[in-house]
Amino acid sequence: MSDQESGPTARQEAGPLRPMPEDWRRALVAVAHPDDLEYGGSAAVAAWTDAGREVVYVLATRGEAGIATLAPDVCAPLREAEQRASARVVGVSQVEFLDHRDGVVEYGTTLRRDIAAAIRRHRPELVVTLNHRDTWGGVAWNTPDHVAVGRATLDAAADAGNRWIFPELVEQGLEPWDGVRWVAVAGSPEPTHAVDATPGMERAVRSLLEHRTYIEALTDEDPEVYCRAFLTGHARAASERFGGVPAVTFELFPR
Ligand SMILES: [Zn+2]
Repeated sequence: MSDQESGPTARQEAGPLRPMPEDWRRALVAVAHPDDLEYGGSAAVAAWTDAGREVVYVLATRGEAGIATLAPDVCAPLREAEQRASARVVGVSQVEFLDHRDGVVEYGTTLRRDIAAAIRRHRPELVVTLNHRDTWGGVAWNTPDHVAVGRATLDAAADAGNRWIFPELVEQGLEPWDGVRWVAVAGSPEPTHAVDATPGMERAVRSLLEHRTYIEALTDEDPEVYCRAFLTGHARAASERFGGVPAVTFELFPR
């Protein structure tokens, strides 16, 4: 479910974006819905997997409430399959679903625990999530699932490292992992860092196109024209703060 169609949101009055850190090997991406990362972030993922880094996707929901014409029980397996296909396009083979309910994801200890468990399973240095802020910029209101999952992911990066928070995870064999060095928030209206979108752009377009059921329900435009225009438009807008290079932006929270 993406309500990011309101146009480029990079804040041009802010200073230059810095390059994302590159001294890491494993990243975990935690987002609310199938397609959340494909609406911009997957060009960066393609560049990372090209460089031999491991990236794992964790989705809070199967996006089953995302298509008005499809009942959730029909929609969920379709969207799950589309997410797995779209991850494969950018070199990601591990995709996990946490089975929270689409549209009514609640921020709280259950969500924090589930994401912390994923962080402990995969031991990433970089965690990526989607915009946790109230808006996409200006008055483009964000959705509650994105806010909940984004905030819980920022919190879970610390929870994962503390043995005494969620002791049941230790009982399940998930030892603390205090190795997360950054949480990078894609789609933030207050980006600080960026990745060159050029090498991964074609795969980013194809990865978004894999969400065909969702996109065909969303727009009457030709799906490929729609995907390409969306992704290149955002990358071009970000280039104004990244030395003229089309970019995927992140708000980076070091730990
Ligand atoms: Zn979404």
